[in-house]
This record gives sequence, C-alpha cells and structure tokens, in this order.
Amino acid sequence: MDYLPVFLKLQGAQALIIGAGEVAAAKARLVAEAGAKIRVVAPEVSEAMAEALTLNGWEHLQARFSPEHVEGAKLVIAATDDRQVNEAVHAACQARGIPVNVADQPALCSFILPAIVDRAPITIAISTGGTSPVLARWVRALLESALPSGLASLAALMARFRSTMKARFPDVDQRRRFVERLLQGPVKELALAGQMAQAEEALEAAMAAPDARDSAPLGEVYLIGAGPGDPDLLTFRAQRLLGQAEIVLYDRLVPEAVLRLCRREARLIYVGKRKGDHAIGQRDLTALLVRYARDGFRVARLKGGDPFIFGRGGEEIEGLVDERIPFVVVPGITAASGCGAYAGIPLTHRDHAHGVSFWTAHHRAGGAIDLDWSRLAASSDETVVFYMGLGGLEALCAGLVEHGRDGSTPAALVEQGTTPRQRVHLGTLADLPEIVAAAGASSPALLIVGSVVSLHQRLNWFEPAGTEAPVFPQHRRFTESSPETESARSSAPSD
Ligand code: SAH
Repeated sequence: MDYLPVFLKLQGAQALIIGAGEVAAAKARLVAEAGAKIRVVAPEVSEAMAEALTLNGWEHLQARFSPEHVEGAKLVIAATDDRQVNEAVHAACQARGIPVNVADQPALCSFILPAIVDRAPITIAISTGGTSPVLARWVRALLESALPSGLASLAALMARFRSTMKARFPDVDQRRRFVERLLQGPVKELALAGQMAQAEEALEAAMAAPDARDSAPLGEVYLIGAGPGDPDLLTFRAQRLLGQAEIVLYDRLVPEAVLRLCRREARLIYVGKRKGDHAIGQRDLTALLVRYARDGFRVARLKGGDPFIFGRGGEEIEGLVDERIPFVVVPGITAASGCGAYAGIPLTHRDHAHGVSFWTAHHRAGGAIDLDWSRLAASSDETVVFYMGLGGLEALCAGLVEHGRDGSTPAALVEQGTTPRQRVHLGTLADLPEIVAAAGASSPALLIVGSVVSLHQRLNWFEPAGTEAPVFPQHRRFTESSPETESARSSAPSD
C-alpha cells in the first residue's frame, strides 16, 4: 500500500486553493462539501471559479502565490499550470508540515484525492495510487451501481437506534447478531426504499419481540418488474433484490437472462401457464407468497415488464397487505416503452402524437373484442398501444377503422421486443394483419398504432442478432434446489 486511506475532519478548517481554473474550482467544491472554509489565491479567476466564489461566498485573495499564504491552512491544493508556482506551494507546505495536493503532479503531493462514492455517512474512497484517475472513476461507477442510493437512509436509521439497541441488547455478540438479522429482513429494504416511518416501525417491532434475541427475521416479498426482455433494462434495485431472494416465483414473460441473475441457491418456481395446463390461480399465488414470507424467506415475485401494467401485480400484493407481510414494489420497463425505444418509435412526438394510451383487448365469448371503441377512435392525435394484441390483431385493426380511424394510419407489430429475436412488422391499419399473417409472428407481441410509427424508418437503431436461443422460458428448465436451511429457516416450504 503506497498511501494510507484516512478520512479527514475538515468542518470549519481553513483550506487553501492556489489557482482559479476549472480544476481548482472542482477540487474546492469537493473540499467545501466536507465543511472546510475555502480561501482561493489567484491573480485571475476562470468563469467556473467566479461563479463558485459568488455562489458559496468563498474568500478570494487576488494575488500571486507567496509562501506565507499557507500559514494557518489545514489543507492546501494547487491547481495552476505554472510549474514554479506549484513547486513553491509544495515546498512551503512541506516546510510547515501541511498536507498538500498538486493537480496532475503526483511527485508534489503529500496526499491524493480519491474518487468517491458518497452515501454519507457511508463514504467509499477509491485510489489507484495516482496512476490512473480514469481507472479509479471506472471502479467508482461499478460501485455506484452496486450500492443502493438509499444506503444513507439506512445508516441514519442505524444511528438513530444505536443507543436503544445497546440498551435492549447489552451483550455485544447478541447485538451484532440482531443487527445482522435486521440487515437481512424488511427493515433494510424499507429504509433503502426511503420508507422511514415503516422501517422504524418494523425495527421497533423486531426489538420488542419477546424472542428478538434469536428469532428468525420475518420474511418479505419483492414484487419486481423484470422489463421486456433485454436483461440490461433491469433496474439496479431489481438486480440487487434478485441477488438476495431465496425464493423466486416467475412467469412466462420473465427472460431467462434475468433468471440467471438470481442467486445460485435460490429456488426458482415457475407459476405461469404451461402448455395444456392452467396458470396457478391468483388466490393460490398470494397464499404461496404469504406462506413463504411467514416462513422467513425473502421472496421475489418476478413479472415481465412492469408489475403494475397489465401484470396483476396489484391483486397479488393486496393479500400481503391484509396479512401484514412487508413488501416493496420495483417498477420495470413496460413492453410499450421497451418496444417503442428498440423499434425507433417514440410513443409521443410533438409533430405526431400528444399522448399515448395503453390498452389490452378482452375477448368476449364468440371472439368479439370488448373495448371503448368510440374513445379509441376519437383520439386521432394519440398513439395507442395494445398489449396482448397478437391474437386479435385483425379484429383490432378492423374495429379501429370501422369506428372512424383512417385505414392509412401507420401501425406496427413489435414481436419479442428488446430481445435478439425482435422483429418489427410495419404497415397500416388496413394491411398490417395481412403482412403479419404472411410473415408469421409469435408472442409476445405489441401493437402500436399512430403516425409516430412512420418515424421508425429514420430512427431505427437496434439491429437484433436474431439468435435461435429462446429468450423466454418455454417450460420449466430450472431445477428447484432447496433453499438454504439455516436452523431458523428449517421449515423449508414445499409446493
Ligand atoms: N406487465 C407487462 C405486460 C404483461 S401483458 C409489461 O408491463 O410489459 C403481456 C403482453 O405484454 C404481451 O401479450 C405483449 O403484448 C406485451 N409484451 C411483453 N413483453 C413483450 C416483448 N418483449 N415484446 C413485445 N410485447 C411484449
């Protein structure tokens, strides 16, 4: 280790910045964030620094650097393009034992400024020992995406309850075990999601439990949107929760690549429809979620796209509310957004559509489609998107024309959107069904109707690789390995 990472307390301390360019301004801002008083020494100031000086009320000494300027400073940073000045700053600080950093000149630095991941009070400093700031920033980006932004709220909650926890669990080991369990349970997820009142309530309940000293944590449910197909479209939170769920209930439109992000020991349970089989009923599904959570498991309920858009996510968690099972809902990119983006079809556009609506076609017995046709046909400056429209494509297009939409209205069917198998079938309300019938299309597919579809020609950017491998699980292909069986969770569920 060439440098010792330390965290300096600078509240109210004098920090001296020599130079007033953009680099100097950026470094001054960083030091100011830690509470230091900033004094800038420079004969002239850049626009960036001038702005920062007025905005923050920093002190500016309009002068060339001279060694006595460093007197009284707790920290000195030089960022000038004058080598002699930089060396003079370094010498003046060395002589007085003041920490000094000279931008881009590691040889003149007694300390270096790291790349920082800031989830104050949790702070991570990254250094490459001055060899490559770009590399440090890359590592930082990795950590930024791995660490939930709500970490600060969680740390604040822990700070608030520190003394109460100490009183409740005077024994250090007991306290450590309690906090460890706490960090596996709902308190953590609630705090990370910013639900502070609920997190506090859950924490208090955990502490008050008579067997708090060694009881298992209460389980919880994560209702997660898996996005439309491309696993890169998952949110950070979804990815993190999948990495910790012990049981994952998923259905047909959850991409296999997303399932691979689950932890290796997780038990994956398919709850969608299978060929010649019925999907597990909504009520049974909720009952399953409740049971697993009661047994202390962290359960992910994974759904394609967004769980609250034609996903019945609301119905599933209603039962959790009744049973007081803690849960979080993680939105996903819905098929309309994903397909629009990957097909180069903006769903709204100033010159084409002032709004967009999402629909799904209900088939009545006999094949007729139940829809508010008059509303649909009236909104000619709106894009309309139909989910689950493949089966009824012909009836939908004909119905729109019949109720007043022009047969020449552009329409697109996006098949397996955002995946390597994506295909975009283009036409008009009059001829799209024929075009699709000739080409053949498979579900999932989304119908987009409106003049925005014409933008595809210019904006299309996504060239799918057209792989043969299926994107969505065709059948149950994952073995159900048993979940961890810690003693506290010995009642492993079976279905
Ligand atoms: N909750 C999901 C929608 C579930 S309904 C979401 O927010 O996206 C299922 C319908 O979504 C399918 O019939 C199809 O119309 C659409 N869909 C889902 N994924 C799709 C994809 N990758 N490409 C095209 N349509 C998709």
